[in-house]
Amino acid sequence: MKYLLFLLLSLSAFANLHLAPPSFDYRDGKAVFMDIKEATYDIKYYPYFFTSRVKTTFTFELKEEGYPLFDFVPMGIRGKLNGKRVPIRRVKSPGKVTSYRVVKKKLKPGTYTLVLYTKVKRLAWYGLGTVNSGFFIKDLKEKKFLEKFVPANLEYDQYPMTFNVRVKARKAHKVVANGNVKVHKKNHFTIHYPAHYGSSSVYFHVFKQGKYKWVTDTFRSIDGRDIPFTIYTKWFLKPEKFLAKARGIFNELEADYGPWPQDFYIVYGMALKGGMEYPGATATSLRSLGHEMFHTYFAKGVVPADGNSGWMDEGLASWRDRGYKTLTHPGYDSFNLGGHSVYKRNTDKNSYKVGRAFFAYLNSKFNLKYALKDYFQKHKYQMVTTNHMINHFEQLTGLNLRADFSTYVLGGNGKSNYVEFHEHEENEHHIDYTDAQIKRML
Ligand SMILES: [Zn+2]
Repeated sequence: MKYLLFLLLSLSAFANLHLAPPSFDYRDGKAVFMDIKEATYDIKYYPYFFTSRVKTTFTFELKEEGYPLFDFVPMGIRGKLNGKRVPIRRVKSPGKVTSYRVVKKKLKPGTYTLVLYTKVKRLAWYGLGTVNSGFFIKDLKEKKFLEKFVPANLEYDQYPMTFNVRVKARKAHKVVANGNVKVHKKNHFTIHYPAHYGSSSVYFHVFKQGKYKWVTDTFRSIDGRDIPFTIYTKWFLKPEKFLAKARGIFNELEADYGPWPQDFYIVYGMALKGGMEYPGATATSLRSLGHEMFHTYFAKGVVPADGNSGWMDEGLASWRDRGYKTLTHPGYDSFNLGGHSVYKRNTDKNSYKVGRAFFAYLNSKFNLKYALKDYFQKHKYQMVTTNHMINHFEQLTGLNLRADFSTYVLGGNGKSNYVEFHEHEENEHHIDYTDAQIKRML
């Protein structure tokens, strides 16, 4: 059964177009979201020239006629569709909620190959014949996922990705990734990421060998597997501290929610506050380690489909961080965490405090931890929206919960909120680092 699941996850891209936002008017037709079947990234770093080149190949399917959409943030992109040059433009979503890249050619439904030429403009730092490049993502501001570095689809899509990475330098480099890494020869790597990954899944970090301190160990799962844990930090931190703390959290989470969802775990231990989660990996401070490991279950085990769904993972993680409290009333009248525009892409920054209070309130109605364990087992590796959670909890408990969700996390009926929440007070685990801060963290 496990082998079958592995095959399923490895061989097929997931058809998730039903989770994509609606198409919208563009020029003489519609701008339409694509279903990527497979993506290959050929990434070359040239440290002696302080530059990089990326060739991206998408095989994608279009279900309706129109101009295909994807995203890429930096300037500078050239495209070829089925071998022919094609203009790539920027386009705003309805309501100017966000923007995308659009292929300026109207296409009939079908399968196409799109080749894109770009550079890694951000988060690649060059030393003397060395590169340090990490595709570190954020989720509280939009357009900070994989599209910040290389062309990618929106969060709804899941597809297998291959990174072919070359560092054109004499000094030996190393790659850390949450995929299957093959080292061909010095400074030449291939990484295969599984088919259930998307734009918020990829962990990729390449750097000069010997740059970081390492410690590895295996943790025994309650299902009998030995899970390798790899911790690496800068020279002035102690990876052993992260390892010891990780062991305790691992045992806690397995006892609450079942066997560890991944076959490995990578921790990049940082001195910076906060952290960010990936499937099977995290870049985090020691203090946020528990929060990020929790996301292995909720965020990267059960995966939010869009910006309106991310509040659940942060609310749940924060509910755990503060000791799984129970409240007979959430303490506010109404709030909108997950009822924003269908085009919204980032998680609402109030998800920690408001989400935590809401889950503490649900815990007064039924055993929420028990329900979450069941929810996790049934939706593992699936994309979910707030509706999935409502339906699951209602079926499990027999309670009518839709009204509570509508009022307390989906904005009520346009009622204003009387509680003021302050950003700096709450985003203790997911910090919107500046690029300068990240540079110090590398
Ligand atoms: Zn979080």
